Amino acid sequence: MTTATTTLSNAPMTASDRCDRCGAQAYVRVVLSAGGELLFCAHHGREHGQALRAAGAHVHDESQKLAATSSTAAPDER
Ligand SMILES: [Zn+2]
Repeated sequence: MTTATTTLSNAPMTASDRCDRCGAQAYVRVVLSAGGELLFCAHHGREHGQALRAAGAHVHDESQKLAATSSTAAPDER
């Protein structure tokens, strides 16, 4: 049984994903209920995430990566 899955909201964000507001690296992906998606940096993700979530959008927050990558990057992530 195979269903068509969209990989859009599951693919990990990369350094080439940029905040739609300021162009910084994106850590928050917002999938709008009407379709389409937005990318935000950690800062703008916090600023807009709650309102978008309240509006029914799916907010995928990877901003915890910010804290994890500095000094204690897991070896298996490389
Ligand atoms: Zn931003």
